[in-house]
Parts: sequence; C-alpha cells; structure tokens
Amino acid sequence: MHCPFCSTDETKVIDSRLVAEGDQVRRRRECLECKERFTTYEVAELVMPRLIKQDGSREPFNEDKLRGGFLRALEKRPVSVEEIETQIHQIKHRLRATGEREIQSRELGELVMAALKTLDQVAYVRFASVYKSFQDLAEFRDAIELLEAEPQGSD
Ligand SMILES: [Zn+2]
Repeated sequence: MHCPFCSTDETKVIDSRLVAEGDQVRRRRECLECKERFTTYEVAELVMPRLIKQDGSREPFNEDKLRGGFLRALEKRPVSVEEIETQIHQIKHRLRATGEREIQSRELGELVMAALKTLDQVAYVRFASVYKSFQDLAEFRDAIELLEAEPQGSD
C-alpha cells in the first residue's frame, strides 16, 4: 500500500480492527518514510462479475437467464427445483469467489455444464449440444462416449 502523502510503498499496519459489524477491516497505517498516518478500509468484493461474450461485448450476470438455461435443459427430467437452486447458488458463489470484475461467459457455460453433469446426464448432453454447437454427429457421439467413460459421481 503506497503512502498517500509521499507515495513510498513502505507503510506498516499499526492497528487493525473489524468495523461495520465485521464486514469491514479498518487498518491504521503509518508511513515508514514520512511518518504520516492514514486509514484504509478493506471489504470483501462480492459483486457478481460481468460476462464477456464471445464478440467482446459485456453483459451483467443475470440469474433469471441462468435459471432459464437450467430449466430448459432439465425440462421433463427427474430433477427437483431444490437441486437446481442448489446448483445455481453454488455457481453464484463460485463466480463471486473469483473476485474478478469480468469473466468470459464461456467460464459460466463450463460451470453450468459441470452442474448439469452431476444433476442429469440427458440434460447435460442437451445443453452441451447447444452450447458447444456440435459441428456434426461424430462430435456429438464423442461427447456422449466421453460421458459414458467417466465414472458416475455419487453426489
Ligand atoms: Zn509517506
């Protein structure tokens, strides 16, 4: 952390405490150069990253859209709403945990695919066929064979 007075990067923390009911850390720092003191506040970055689409445009994360994708893939499949919500919750958690302000929408797609794979393999193939836009039947068959070759998850 650079000193805001003399810009040196030699500063030390002299006091650190939780504030705002534990949501922030307030740090008192002292510059080793000019001896000025200043305060910093640290908060967790819990903003959902924006998605960078393939054409380079950005769009905000949209939970409804994510849920819609799940529901479409899982249409008429034996998967409960609760299971879907759990996966959505986990995906949101993982997106936030990246700490990134922007991520490739492809990364979200991969998370959805991984989630569907654990929920329902038919839904997974449905989603993958659209998402990966398989070029031909051979590619589609490869994906299914890959799926069959993998051991079944117990969770
Ligand atoms: Zn200084």
